Parts: sequence; C-alpha cells; structure tokens
Amino acid sequence: MKQLPVLVVHGGAWAIPDNMVEVHLKGVRHALAEGWRVLERGGTSLDAVQTAIVCLEEDETFDAGRGSFLTRDGRVQLDALLMDGNTLRAGGVGCVERIRNPIKAARIILDDSPHVYFVAEGAERFVQAHGMELCRNEDLVIEREVARLKDAQAKEAAGQPDLTFAGTEFGHDTVGAVALDMNGNLAAGTSTGGTLNKTPGRVGDSSLIGCGCYADNQSGAASCTGWGEPIMKLVLAKWATDRVRQGIAPDITSTDAIAYLHRRLKGHGGMILLDGRGRFGIAHNTPRMAWAYQNTERDASGINV
Ligand code: ASP
Repeated sequence: MKQLPVLVVHGGAWAIPDNMVEVHLKGVRHALAEGWRVLERGGTSLDAVQTAIVCLEEDETFDAGRGSFLTRDGRVQLDALLMDGNTLRAGGVGCVERIRNPIKAARIILDDSPHVYFVAEGAERFVQAHGMELCRNEDLVIEREVARLKDAQAKEAAGQPDLTFAGTEFGHDTVGAVALDMNGNLAAGTSTGGTLNKTPGRVGDSSLIGCGCYADNQSGAASCTGWGEPIMKLVLAKWATDRVRQGIAPDITSTDAIAYLHRRLKGHGGMILLDGRGRFGIAHNTPRMAWAYQNTERDASGINV
C-alpha cells in the first residue's frame, strides 16, 4: 500500500514582529505549495524538501540565501544540510559565500560525493566543478541587513548586553523542511545564514548532522531553528528522532526536545519532527514560529502553535 505523503516546513522561531507576520506566512505557504506539488505527483521526499527550501532561500524574508544575516565583517556565510532517511545519504555545506542556494549545493554533495560535508572555498569549488554557477558575495547582501548589522554593532559598542546570539528578539529566520513520500521515505533539510554579527568562520547547528537536521526512515525526520550553540551541544535533532524510534509520538517528542533545550542549557528555538507513519510535531519556546504543513487531509499554516 502506498504511504500518504506529508510535508512540514518552517521559517524560523523568534519574536517575529506583527508587521512581519504576513510575509513569513506567505513565504512558508509558498514553499509548502511548491514542495507539495512534488509529493503529490509521486516525487521523492528528498526532492520535496529541496524544492520547499529553495523557495525559502529565494525569499529575502528569511535568514537563508540572499538576505541572510551578516557576519561581523559584513559578509554572508551560509550553512545547509540535506539528508535522505532511506539511504542515510547526506550533503552539507558550511561557511559558503558564493552560493545562492546552499541546499542545491548540499544536494550535489549528497548525490555526487562519497563525502558528506564541505566547507568554504572547497565546497564552492566542488559544486562549481559539478555544474553550479557561483555568485559574488555582494549578490547575497541586502540593504536591510547592512542596516541591521550596523545597529547591532552600535549597540555592542555602546556597551549594551550582547543578546545577538541568545535573545529571542533577534531573528532566527533559518528555514527547514521534513517530508514523507508515497514510498514511505523520509527526508529533512535545513538552510541558514546563521546568527547576526557572527564571527566569520562560525558554523551553527543547522547544517550539522543530528544537530539542526536529521532523517532516518527507522526513526524520524527533524529540522531545528533557534540559538545554534545549545542545539549543537545537545545534538537535538538526533535526540528527538531517537525518541521517536523508541515509540514516543512526534508531537510529544518535539515539545519534550524544546523543553530539554531550555532546561539543560537555557536554549530557545523550534523544531519540526515527522515519523514514518506521517505523524508530526511542531514545537517552539520562542514567542512565535513560522510553520506550515500539508497532508492529504488538510493543509494549515501559522505563526504560533
Ligand atoms: N540555528 C541557526 C544558527 O545558530 C540560527 C537560526 O535558527 O536562525 O545558525
């Protein structure tokens, strides 16, 4: 019997201001619709996740692709991971500066390399050799982010507490998706520009296997967003999928994972989690999180769960 497909996407978890709610909702709904089209016509969960994430990377609302947060020295540095729950193949990039859609680069690595993870110029050279056109870093930088960086650095210079990484009022607009296809295969992906004013070379949780993203048909598929350092230390996506494997439902597990993140390290963020039966959870401990899901029975989207 064919499995009924499911797609869940997110566009970050933080105190999304009222005047940004609509654009976030529009962005996740568009990504959902595009990804769903893939699943509906019998496509793979891997293609659906990639398609949804490409839409979110192309949307300047989010901290992924063009329009991402800037590093301390005013550049865009992107991280992304894509993972196939059927084969456990994965592709990840960290600190890439000349790639418009890092999730496509992750896919090239997943498909064409015996390795799993490439960083910086090596990653750029590898995907270029496999047919991807590189852009200039300036092409990824937008005015809004130049102003945002200036503001954060002025506050820092004025001695205001550095909440850049830890505060929920600073954007955590990382994007991600998890999907289950008609053949019962799970996939997950996460893509990010990281945190505002980050030190060049910093890699967060998003693109690290088991931290901000994980997929295994034998357990579940997860994508996280939020303050990356605590999520990494707890290897949170793997923590959650392991619990699903033990039989705990994804809605309970995602809530438990975010509670654990806060209890253990005072971390904050959000998670989407899906199992092989199509059951899913969406949880966050930030004031808001942008999410959307679709299965054959219904589709829904929201900013708060
Ligand atoms: N988790 C990401 C990071 O720390 C940020 C985010 O979710 O927006 O790089």
